[in-house]
Amino acid sequence: MQNIHHIYINGQFVTPHGTQVQELINPTTGQPRASVVLGDETDVHAAVAAAKAAYPAYSRTSKQERMAILQRMHDAVAARSEELVQVMVEEYGGTLPFCRASVQRAANSFLHTMQLLETFDFVRTAGSARVVLEPLGVVGIITPWNSSYGFICSKLATALAAGSTAVIKPSELSAAQTQILTECLHAAQIAPGLFNIVNGSGDTVGAAITAHRDIAKISFTGSTAVGKQIARGAVETMKRVTLELGGKSPNVLLEDADLDLAIPTAVAAFTFNSGQACLAGTRLIVPASRLDEIQQRIKVAVDALIVGAPADAGTQIGPLVNAAQHARVQRYIALGTQEGATLLTGGTGHPPGMENGYFVKPTVFVNVRNDMAIAQEEIFGPVLSIIAYDSEEEAIAIANDTRYGLQAYVSSRDQARANRVAAQLVAGRVFINGLYDEPLAPFGGFKQSGIGREFGTYGLEAYLEPKAMMGYSTSHESP
Ligand code: NAD
Repeated sequence: MQNIHHIYINGQFVTPHGTQVQELINPTTGQPRASVVLGDETDVHAAVAAAKAAYPAYSRTSKQERMAILQRMHDAVAARSEELVQVMVEEYGGTLPFCRASVQRAANSFLHTMQLLETFDFVRTAGSARVVLEPLGVVGIITPWNSSYGFICSKLATALAAGSTAVIKPSELSAAQTQILTECLHAAQIAPGLFNIVNGSGDTVGAAITAHRDIAKISFTGSTAVGKQIARGAVETMKRVTLELGGKSPNVLLEDADLDLAIPTAVAAFTFNSGQACLAGTRLIVPASRLDEIQQRIKVAVDALIVGAPADAGTQIGPLVNAAQHARVQRYIALGTQEGATLLTGGTGHPPGMENGYFVKPTVFVNVRNDMAIAQEEIFGPVLSIIAYDSEEEAIAIANDTRYGLQAYVSSRDQARANRVAAQLVAGRVFINGLYDEPLAPFGGFKQSGIGREFGTYGLEAYLEPKAMMGYSTSHESP
């Protein structure tokens, strides 16, 4: 049993003031693997005080100084990437390819942010005014468990690039990942207080960050329900918020879609990260004229997926993160049948022989109406709803008939047609004929998928406040 009993404040691993202990279960075996001592409000106050004290000097650093810090952070994370992968596989249950990609992405987020800084202009003009983009102050970063390293690293990199200091509250379910990542970031030897990490539950540590008057902005990734709570709390002190929330993303197959490409894409889009992905394509919107063929192909592809222990090289779907998540997905699968949808494959219960861990059967429903709960609510497991349409207009209407707007997918052999449909989908990102990774493209949602964007220029600007100066003279600047 691993015992995680330190948090990170002002450049040091310290014992939290909080004393509550949470047990963490290995999702593959259902057995306890670690315990974590949770921080409390007092720990948040100490972390914010450290970040606040570090802020004045740090906010005045040059681009070059910030880039040097980001480079060291990248190197420190990359140096322990194999260990980071192992801890993630064990604690979270992510498959090896997913965890490897996730760690690489986390490390690279520092490099992408450096790349961004190189050409980013913090000083601009508007008419006769000089406009300076200034950092906001101390930033609160609150992250979920489904790709813990990546969220922490990309948000921290952006905050530091902007000239802010940070207090981070990772998911309490990711304590072992937090521990090793913190060791990496500590090894980067940056000034104390620039980042502080407090383990703890959402309703204590998360709520204390939301309420704290010395925090100027919150960058949050997580559920829409918690995002709303944070937004309500943040308004009291007028904190800026970036909220990356849930999704129920449509995947529109147009009549002329190349199914050899579109079916593997559709299966990957709903099973990626064992279905625990905010951008998962969980509504497959298909032409009624090709429904039978598409259903058959989806069934064959899904039945061939390998569900298993995440450390096994061939595994494509691992366990879900914990018992609550497992129970939630089971509830939705049962609800789908009650609502009148038909199971194409999968269903409730564990896959045979995997009763100990939090494994679910990849599940596909057909005869789904878009107003059913399984088509409207985020399930956060490998569950797909297939919905038929008769015309392109109807496909677009179904795709947009959702409270979410994070991501959308469209497939067609006719690029002009795909472009036309993509332009009408209400989503922060649209993928045409495939899956893509563009770390500098903005990421975030329309509607209840969130507020604001992360990554690239848009993401950095969300950590900055424009200050307009009139009557400023550059010839009188101090050297
Ligand atoms: P969650 O909302 O339950 O928790 C996210 C974080 O918020 C955790 O650190 C949690 O401790 C904290 N939290 C909980 N209650 C809080 C409160 N009252 N005040 C402040 N903080 C609080 O989400 P989760 O279960 O960890 O993650 C799954 C959810 O995250 C899904 O809904 C998924 O769609 C969403 N998600 C979104 C994105 C995105 O970028 N849009 C990415 C990944 C996950």
